[in-house]
Amino acid sequence: KREDIIHFGAGPASLPSDVLATAAAALQNYDDTGLGVAEHSHRSGLAANILATMKADLANFLDIPPSYDILIMQGGGSGQFDATIYNSISIWVERQRQEILKNTRIGVNGKEISEDDMVKELRQRVEWSLKASKEAVRLLGPEYVNIVADARKISDGKFGKIPDESTWTLSRKPAMVYLCENETVDGVEWPSFPKVLEPTGPDDDHIIVGDFSSTILTRRIPIKNFSLIFFGAQKNLGITGITIVIIKKSLLPPVSAPCPPAMLRKLGLPISPIIIDYAAAAQNNSLYNTLSIFEQVLKKLLATFPDKVDGQQVVAERKAKVVYEVLDAYPTIYKVVPDKSVRSRMNICFRMIKGGNVDEAEKAFLEGAVERGLTGLKGHRSVGGIRVSNYNAVSESGIEKLVAYMKEFAAA
Ligand code: PMP
Repeated sequence: KREDIIHFGAGPASLPSDVLATAAAALQNYDDTGLGVAEHSHRSGLAANILATMKADLANFLDIPPSYDILIMQGGGSGQFDATIYNSISIWVERQRQEILKNTRIGVNGKEISEDDMVKELRQRVEWSLKASKEAVRLLGPEYVNIVADARKISDGKFGKIPDESTWTLSRKPAMVYLCENETVDGVEWPSFPKVLEPTGPDDDHIIVGDFSSTILTRRIPIKNFSLIFFGAQKNLGITGITIVIIKKSLLPPVSAPCPPAMLRKLGLPISPIIIDYAAAAQNNSLYNTLSIFEQVLKKLLATFPDKVDGQQVVAERKAKVVYEVLDAYPTIYKVVPDKSVRSRMNICFRMIKGGNVDEAEKAFLEGAVERGLTGLKGHRSVGGIRVSNYNAVSESGIEKLVAYMKEFAAA
């Protein structure tokens, strides 16, 4: 039975049972319309209302400043790996193009620069910039990517520590800087946000991107330090299928235009597919195409926590602390994977060092857990071990049940 299970899956994650009950009823008959929420047109007033309420609730819960827009997109966090690159490059190149146009208009008696000269000029600028991640390597080639800090170099080839900011090799003029706030696989989280990425002033137009897939709604975010933040719904917000992008309005039209596709083509740079284009999403109120519309979690959070995300953050930290305390209390049985300085509150990853055979011990731990209704604890397939995903829907009593089992297992 549902009541007997406490699910610690890393994503998709559990959702509050009462939210699901409301959602189940809404799937059959939304607001007494005789039609389910998934059957109503995404162009209806009813859909527009749900979308507007969801954006307002999210802005309220996270204190999103009015200078940011909220886009609802599809394609998950993985879609955003591409979207952030395509869009940032296009915006960055267009900024350069506008700057060149402005300068040459002043410099050459109001005569416009020829297209060929523009391409030449832009090529030079593009060549010493444009940075990002693995997807950027795939889309653009390795020469455009600068890994600012490689955790593996300071923790035995693993992602167990975050290199000190003073050691980072930031590029002078990056097209975008990318930071994953919580690394879901190894359970590594930034204890605080990097100082070096804070804007130097209102004119600082660096594009700083934050992947908040696994910690959104669990922690106060200094939103103004980011140009855009993205996350999939499936861990803390709802069911999988939608992705949220919180983006500075100054990166969207009319302030920032994407670079004309013809120019990107000439430069040999990729043109964003329309479905992940931020300008298109913004101009169409996130309804460029059919969208999955489904929202209940924020309503419950807002009703539960008068101090909004700060209230949820206190609970999230308290739950994580209880688990780490037990792990630390049995150092001969359990070993937390990442360094103490960067332990994730959301994905608590540990190995079993009891006895000689780690695999056997972990298998026994997982089997015993399932017998007690504690599911979803197996670590990510790429690293193994145990992973306790402590998202918002995991209750404090659920955590108590887990730690009771962890103590029992350790003592056996
Ligand atoms: N970023 C992080 C931090 C994640 O944890 C995940 C998925 N677990 C993703 C991105 C990818 O998200 P999606 O599955 O929505 O593509």
